[in-house]
Formats: sequence, structure tokens, C-alpha cells
Amino acid sequence: MNEILLRNRGTANLHTISVYREQGGYRALEKALSLQPDDVISIVQESGLRGRGGAGFPAGAKWRLLTRYRVKTVYLICNADEGEPGTFKDRYIMEFDPHCLIEGMTIAAYATGAHHGFIYIRGEYDWIERVLELALAEARTEGMLGHSIMGSGFSFYIDIYRGAGSYVCGEETALIESLEGKAGRPRLKPPFPAASGLYGEPTVIHNVTTLSFIPFIIINGPDAFKGIGKNRKEGTKLFGISGHVNRPGLYEYPMGTALRELIYEAAGGVRDGKGLKAVIPGGLSAPLLRADEIDVEMDFPSLNAAGTMLGSGGIIVLDEDTSIPRMAQKAAAFYAHESCGQCTPCREGTHMIKFLIDRINEGQGTGTDLEHILKLCRYIRGSTICAFGIAATMPIAAMIVKFRSEFEALLRS
Ligand code: SF4
Repeated sequence: MNEILLRNRGTANLHTISVYREQGGYRALEKALSLQPDDVISIVQESGLRGRGGAGFPAGAKWRLLTRYRVKTVYLICNADEGEPGTFKDRYIMEFDPHCLIEGMTIAAYATGAHHGFIYIRGEYDWIERVLELALAEARTEGMLGHSIMGSGFSFYIDIYRGAGSYVCGEETALIESLEGKAGRPRLKPPFPAASGLYGEPTVIHNVTTLSFIPFIIINGPDAFKGIGKNRKEGTKLFGISGHVNRPGLYEYPMGTALRELIYEAAGGVRDGKGLKAVIPGGLSAPLLRADEIDVEMDFPSLNAAGTMLGSGGIIVLDEDTSIPRMAQKAAAFYAHESCGQCTPCREGTHMIKFLIDRINEGQGTGTDLEHILKLCRYIRGSTICAFGIAATMPIAAMIVKFRSEFEALLRS
């Protein structure tokens, strides 16, 4: 079996607690509650589960950090902001399998000593919020959530908070600021949320898919999870494949699967028989790969070695007719719009990059514009409060470096 999160895809009414339980749902929670919290952490640590939201931090290690704060209030946050362009994996779980997320959150809360959790959901997902609210109500009614879950004496409560459409609120400290009712602007780190997060208390934050793996790991054991990945890469990953392919959609494949296999086998290849020009492998912020670079394995270290990143797993396929300068223009407009404005290099630099790329696309670019953009990208990186500075510049720089001739062809002679 190679699917974990999508293994029940197609089951009618999976979003209801009765059908979820028919599929074995909430047995993992029952098992977890019979163990000591430290034992639950050990199982997750041993599985090698790494955050699937983009950063790839080991989940068990994150939980272990929290154990030193058990005497204090601990919060658990599920980051369901999913604002990365080209990404649509979390929405599937929340809409069609919400109890898997609730069960995963409750186990994580038990392990870390949290009694209050939040699902911070992307503002545009209003219909999914309603699905989640119904699922939470069902879980409370059946004693899977709330006071003394399954009579264990452990209590955990979940609230949903809707974002307001800001991309930066996907960054964990901006999300916390927003949750506290303030403008969603990233905080300087350290302190990290594990030490001082929501309301200054220790806080563990995970993405939807990371939390949704937990029930499988608890029921089946760490080896079952580890055994699925290819070449010692743990578990599976959800890949949302979009763009110029024959079968766009959401796919679950073992970590370490070749990008070529995902494009040509899962998604049916480039549509209309066209040639492949480039692929963005992990959401817009991941630098693109040329067609001759797609034999890379889809896992954290392999993509980093290829100069890009696994990111959110949102794969955007671009056929031979795609204009990379136009792609760069769209990306630059997005980042200039989404900068929170706290840091001067990011606030001013993203707008300057947008101005220059607009000018090139309008046929008004000059001979020095490309170097100017690349210099701005270098200056912004490493001089900002959050990783947005990197996310906004790496993809643009890669487009120029890898497809420079397309940009040069638009410059004024
Ligand atoms: Fe805001 Fe950009 Fe600075 Fe991040 S890097 S804090 S998004 S201005």
C-alpha cells in the first residue's frame, strides 16, 4: 500500500464520524490515550515524520521540545492557511476527511500537553470551515473531543479561526499574531513558538497534512510509515499537480518518487502532446527546474541539492509555449502585493523587481535591468525578518538565470 492520506478516497460520506469510524477512525486516538505521552512522542520520532508544510522540521523532535514546558499552558495550532500558489492538498483533507485531522490534532495535543488547539484556516475556504465545524461538533458529541476524551481524563478543545487572505499569515509567527487579533506580521526569531508562541506560551504548529499522518503512524507503527518512502525517505507526500498536464489533480506518492514519474505517469504528461519547458516543484516559491532537470527525486535533500525545494508539493507544469518573463511578471506582482511591509528590503525591493519585470515585458527594458533585478534578489535575501524575502526572490532569480535569453529577447535594443 502506497497511500496513507488518500487511501479512503472515494468513500461516500467520509467526512461524517460514522463513516470515518467504519474505516477504523479514532482507534489511533484510543491507542494513544492508553500510552504515556512520551511513548507517543517516541513513536512519531521513530517514524521520521517531517513537517509537510514546507520547512520539513522533524515532527517528533518538535514535540519533544515542548515536553519541557508541560507545567505551563501549551497551545497546538494547525496551519491550514494554504496560501502558496499551486497548492491544494490541505483543502482535500479538511473537506473530505476532516476527522483524520481532528484525530491527529488530538493525539498531538495529548503528546505535547496541549488542552487548547486552533485550526487557522485560509480565509477563502469558507465552505470548508463549515465542514470542519460540523465534524468538530460530531467529535464532541461522541466524546472524541472536549472534556475527558473517551473517559481518559484528558481534555482538549479545538476552535477554528479564519484568516483574512494574507499570504504571509502562512508564516507561523505571522499566523500567531493574526490569531491574537493583531496585524499578521512575522515576529523576529528567536524566541521560536516552541518557547514563546501564542499569548507568549509554548506553542506547537503543524500543517494539516503533517497532523493527518499521525493516526496512521500510531495505529500501524513507525516502521509502516518509514517503509513506504523510497531510498530511506520516510512516508508519502501529497502532490498537487497543476498547469499544462493531461490529468491535473492531487496525488499521493512515496517520498523520493522521481518528478518525471509524477508528471508523466500520475498526471498523464504534458497536454496536447506539447514539449515540457519547465516545472515549479513545490509551490511558486520553489525555484523552477528546466525540462532536463526533472529526473530529481521528490524529497527534501534531493531538491535542495538541485537548487530548489520540496516546499508545499504544489507542482506547476509549464509547456513549451509558456513565456517565462510573463511567469516572472505574475510572480513578482504576487510577492510585491503580499509583502507585509515591515522590512525595507522586502517592502521596497519586491516593488522595484515588479517595476523592472513589468518594464521588460512591455518592451521597455534596458541592458542593465536583468543585472539590477538579480542584484536586488541578492540584497533582499538574508536581510529580512522572515523567509518571505527568500521566497520572493529565489524563483524570480532562477527564471532569469535559467531562461535568460527569453528576457534578453524582450529588451530594447
Ligand atoms: Fe514582512 Fe517581507 Fe519582512 Fe517578511 S520579509 S516580515 S513579509 S516585509
